Amino acid sequence: MTRISFLGAAGTVTGSKYLVETEAARVLVDCGLFQGVKALRERNWSPPAVAPADLDAVLLTHAHIDHTGYVPRLCAEGYRGRVHCTSGTEDLLQILLPDAGHLEEEAARLASRHSAERKHTALPLFTADQARSSLEQLVAHDFEHEFSPAPGLVARFSRAGHILGSACLILQTESESIIFSGDVGRPNDPIMRPPEALPAAEYLLIESTYGDRRHPEAPASETLEQVVLETAERGGTILIPSFAVGRAQHILHLLAELRHEGRIPDIPVFLDSPMSINATEIFCRHKDDHRLSESQCHSMCKVAHYTRTASESKALARRSGPMIIISASGMASGGRILHHLRRCLPDPRHVVLFVGFQAAGTRGRSLLDGADEVKIHGQYVPVRARVTEIPALSAHADYAELLDWLRMSNIAPRRTFVTHGEAAAADALRRRLRDHLGWDAVVPEDGSSWTLDSRHERS
Ligand SMILES: [Zn+2]
Repeated sequence: MTRISFLGAAGTVTGSKYLVETEAARVLVDCGLFQGVKALRERNWSPPAVAPADLDAVLLTHAHIDHTGYVPRLCAEGYRGRVHCTSGTEDLLQILLPDAGHLEEEAARLASRHSAERKHTALPLFTADQARSSLEQLVAHDFEHEFSPAPGLVARFSRAGHILGSACLILQTESESIIFSGDVGRPNDPIMRPPEALPAAEYLLIESTYGDRRHPEAPASETLEQVVLETAERGGTILIPSFAVGRAQHILHLLAELRHEGRIPDIPVFLDSPMSINATEIFCRHKDDHRLSESQCHSMCKVAHYTRTASESKALARRSGPMIIISASGMASGGRILHHLRRCLPDPRHVVLFVGFQAAGTRGRSLLDGADEVKIHGQYVPVRARVTEIPALSAHADYAELLDWLRMSNIAPRRTFVTHGEAAAADALRRRLRDHLGWDAVVPEDGSSWTLDSRHERS
């Protein structure tokens, strides 16, 4: 008998954490941070639902912080076991987790300064040092290679095509097989290889980020070309808030292709995010994970000037003429993108171009929803620049792509849990699984536990 508890990414897209308990073992699948609105972020401070020292293993589907960012805290709170992942994920975490710790420390410093008169010291959730020491617990596995993370369990990672190293986890307990989809990529992504068909399993957890949406048919490159042409003519900046891993490389690749084909003018491109720069280098080291040839990788790396230091980043504001700046964070919640937004938003010559999912409660979402001002570093900044997005660039399959992928898999699960989606998206996918595939699908409540056996007892 196996029990599964939904400790995050239930009714929301962040904080992925699934606790799997059998008679012999207790493991955590994904160990993510909650992101977005304050009420969600505060949940990162709740005591863990299971004592970290009582866990036998942690398994990670991919490197994104909403799937991994709680690892340093878990280790700081006493988890001493292994953290299993693919080697692409391991490489990316070497840069992502220390950076997350660094951001935590910075946020705590700022909060302490603002409340200095109240004599309140804000603490980081974890420090960069704690993040670095948690990396020692990582163990990398090849795709499709079986390993036993804990007594009575056999696990293997299968390619998910979402970002470098991303995987679906196939977990076999003594009595059941369970598949955790992680985040699922798209069948025709220009960079990532498509998700592998799933094997048979009794239970499936499937993400539903785009459970209620289809991505537009128009290729991302056309939208990007148009935005670049229009903005360059006005002498404006194209500001692209981008996730360091995945989206940034995708944009660089598209820009390299557009420039190569002579479809956009030769305006300077700046990759203004040390993490994206490092991620791009890692990307080119993991050739099996993506579709790009050696020479495409080379052009992708050469299309942008890299600005590594903070002073180089600030100096971009003094440049005149059209340019493209790719910077983090992807949802405009922190990082260097903020000082570029302060400069660009009040001026109608510029464009802010979003290229990834914007979670509820983030600055990115309110900009896309048409906010006429946003608060940055404690000040209200008017929005006069054009704000737009390239939805076709998503790294997540839409509902039709998910259904196609499941149809060509052998899986036929006894029950499917729809997770990692905002309420409407999760419910829409649940209904589609029922109507199109005839599957028994549920959207588990946040914090609920389910016993996996033929009777589906819920406790
Ligand atoms: Zn992801």
